[in-house]
Amino acid sequence: MSDDALGYKWRGFTEINPVSKRKFVIPCDEAIPHEAGHILVGRAVGFLARGLDVEVVRLPDGKGVTVGNFATLAWSPPDEEIPKMASELRAAYMLFVAGGIAGNKFAGLKTPCMGADADRKELARLTDRTLEDVADIAVRMIHQHRRHFRQLVSLIRRRFIERLLKNRDIETGRHLLVSQADLQKIFGDH
Ligand SMILES: [Zn+2]
Repeated sequence: MSDDALGYKWRGFTEINPVSKRKFVIPCDEAIPHEAGHILVGRAVGFLARGLDVEVVRLPDGKGVTVGNFATLAWSPPDEEIPKMASELRAAYMLFVAGGIAGNKFAGLKTPCMGADADRKELARLTDRTLEDVADIAVRMIHQHRRHFRQLVSLIRRRFIERLLKNRDIETGRHLLVSQADLQKIFGDH
């Protein structure tokens, strides 16, 4: 098994201007519970993410920075392995994929989430069940582990502020927000 970013795309790019007045919108109101949902539901079904990162692009001429493309770093089955997956493993992976939308639902987001399209495509590789259908089960798992979910959301939010918003010298590239060690601290050693 290889580790792969699942590439949960998040299109809501926003501008942060680290040069002039620090006026910005925290762009992660839906991305953070979304990724926390993937990570938490993944844990619950045995898919251990190894972290979470985000893409930063520094714009030329001091125009600021865009932030987006949050990605939970986890294993994703290659196409040729999917037909061979045991049904339990497949069911677990489906819940992991639906965990993002479940995170949004749990957080009370009413509109369709921006990360949903990529997840819908990923789920369609495995089943013809809808993402919303599988997410309903995943929401119950978040509810059972809501204390961990909230810890995870607040950690991601804190790191986002510390490492991105407050870092005037931030460079273009992917930046780690949550590491495997952070996740082990929250969930205990497995
Ligand atoms: Zn997602």
